[in-house]
Amino acid sequence: MKIDLKKYEIWFVTGSQHLYGPETLKQVKENANQISRHLDRQKEIPVKIRFKGVLTTAEEILGLIRDVNQSEKCIGLITWMHTFSPAKMWIGGLKILSKPLLHFHTQFNERIPWNTIDMDFMNLNQTAHGGREFGFINTRLRRSRKVIVGHWQDATAIGKIADWSRVVLAWADSQTMKIARFGDNMREVAVTEGDKVSAQIQFGYSVNGYGMGDLAEHIAAIKPGEIGKLLDTYEEEYQVANILGKKGRKRKSLEEAGRIELGIRSFLEQGNFTAFTDTFENLHGLKQLPGIAVQRVMQEGYGFGAEGDWKTAALVRSMKVMAQGLSGGNSFMEDYTYHFDPGNMQVLGAHMLEICPSITSNRPSCEIHPLSIGGKADPVRLVFDADPGEALNASIVDMGNRFRLLINTVTGKSPEEKLPKLPVARVLWEAHPNLPEAATAWILAGGAHHTCYSQNIKVEQMEDFAEMAGIECVVIDRETSISRLKQDLRNNAIYYGLQDL
Ligand code: MN
Repeated sequence: MKIDLKKYEIWFVTGSQHLYGPETLKQVKENANQISRHLDRQKEIPVKIRFKGVLTTAEEILGLIRDVNQSEKCIGLITWMHTFSPAKMWIGGLKILSKPLLHFHTQFNERIPWNTIDMDFMNLNQTAHGGREFGFINTRLRRSRKVIVGHWQDATAIGKIADWSRVVLAWADSQTMKIARFGDNMREVAVTEGDKVSAQIQFGYSVNGYGMGDLAEHIAAIKPGEIGKLLDTYEEEYQVANILGKKGRKRKSLEEAGRIELGIRSFLEQGNFTAFTDTFENLHGLKQLPGIAVQRVMQEGYGFGAEGDWKTAALVRSMKVMAQGLSGGNSFMEDYTYHFDPGNMQVLGAHMLEICPSITSNRPSCEIHPLSIGGKADPVRLVFDADPGEALNASIVDMGNRFRLLINTVTGKSPEEKLPKLPVARVLWEAHPNLPEAATAWILAGGAHHTCYSQNIKVEQMEDFAEMAGIECVVIDRETSISRLKQDLRNNAIYYGLQDL
């Protein structure tokens, strides 16, 4: 299931006023149009950038922002103050703006034209202070927004706009996301629980519970011919173990796994769901815990959380939307086991089965092994090592009066030894700043054992996402010190406590 990126637009407007006369305004419009078109041409920016004109009065601004709010295509707004746009006239519009805002603090000319600069040039090109007027009113209105500074042809500035656009896409997607929750929470587990009403208010997504019988019906309705075709795909894409091959004695288990995959797809498509959870404790009507099925649909862009973890399912979906079309992947993940070797400390991340193949460029092997918990038949799964490289783990926890997004930057490593007996997909990483401090910080911040592991989303994008959602964000990276983190957590407690008053 892909996301149609080109159906979405981010609108670009320029603020000015009538003080400078029609000639200047005409030039402002031409320049703004040129910048907007330049941004629209950048392949890096995944959505359409559409120029919506120069705004010079409070009425025009309010009208435009009503259109932004109303439009199904428009998911965000970029503003640029080419000249000086007195910001009192922005108050009415900004007060009602309901979509993410980017204040692009750029300037038409890259360099000062030393030999020709005169007062006409100065009047036309005054973003340096025009942007400050606009900045003030947003700050005065306590409006969260992104500020990007740089010349409009500069690769770094364009890259930041591209990154932000991806977050805006995920935010738009989250507003209508529907999560299917098969079964409930794994019994007595705390961190995977949370307030679904608060989550819907904060993130937009809805969490819908279903009994396993609802899914089992879809699985039972799958025809053998469809399963045969899917098994051919497995043979093409994976190194299928002999025991699961056409003449293998566990062939039936592979057929059952294929049936489960088709049933899950059928259920999700029919209900328009883009994320889901299951739990190995509640599989009534299923012969095996969905393994390869979850792995394959996650790879296509569905969010997933195990053991009823709907917060992680939603996060995985949002990060997959952000990452659409980028190299590298995003997967549901769990911190499993430590390697406390002094000088080479690592974390082994894995799950019982459900790691997304988007994080490997190797050909996964398709295997069957006992699960040893859950009491069902042996499940089929894809086994692989994730690609090494810079990555992050992100987790959302429910703090009772707020959600907290916790991020830890890590470096993915190739395993130094083979793991011949480990029957699941896995990742090895070095946590930043180092394993003892990263794990201390994560535990003090209440981070879950479930995360989304990302090879292509930046910390800044996750921070932007948290800001759009209006939730707390805590970052553990190479700069983290435990004493400062503890103080940050105390400061945040006051900040969010005050918001409750
Ligand atoms: Mn788990």
